[in-house]
Amino acid sequence: MFSGIVENLVYNDISPDIIEHDIDIDADQWTYDGRDVFRGSQDNRYTDVRAYWLYDDDLQRIGLVEYDVKDNANFNVLWFYDNQYATLFQNPDWKPTGTTIWSRMSPEAYQDCLSNDFKNVFDMAINSGILLITPTTFINRSYIYECTKCKKKSLSKFNCSDLDYEVDFFKYSILFIDDDFIIYETSTSEPPVASVQVEKVLSPV
Ligand SMILES: [Zn+2]
Repeated sequence: MFSGIVENLVYNDISPDIIEHDIDIDADQWTYDGRDVFRGSQDNRYTDVRAYWLYDDDLQRIGLVEYDVKDNANFNVLWFYDNQYATLFQNPDWKPTGTTIWSRMSPEAYQDCLSNDFKNVFDMAINSGILLITPTTFINRSYIYECTKCKKKSLSKFNCSDLDYEVDFFKYSILFIDDDFIIYETSTSEPPVASVQVEKVLSPV
């Protein structure tokens, strides 16, 4: 979840488990966005904002409220949703499509990925102009390594790479996937997802 108060601050710890420092405290009841919640104690891992985790009646973590350290009236509430992309973009319209990139792929292409332990999937895609994004790579903004002679690209350094630069999201067709290669989409906001033929991209050469 991106902070709405401090630029480049990301809350990565989004498990529903109670945070250590909130165990056995007397949590106050608060209402945010019309939802009654229990608010934990201030999370001191964050110093640029005052951040408090929010809990439901069963002490499951369900969100976070962050306050501007200089202006108490300026606060922002972030909620956990039922999937990583909805939480990341704070938009419940992000949904898993129920299809994986494998389902859009020929059996031969799948076999090729399988025989490489799925390690080459991201690189095969990038060499065909498609950026496969996971929540982690989206937050961390990957680098692309390139060889100016043989034109090969990779998301990691390789023997003849002589150039590296930050990924330019606008230069690629993007597929948002999770760690199980399931594709995520949103119907309400226009994501930078081109309709792509993954089987073409990932076919063995
Ligand atoms: Zn090369």
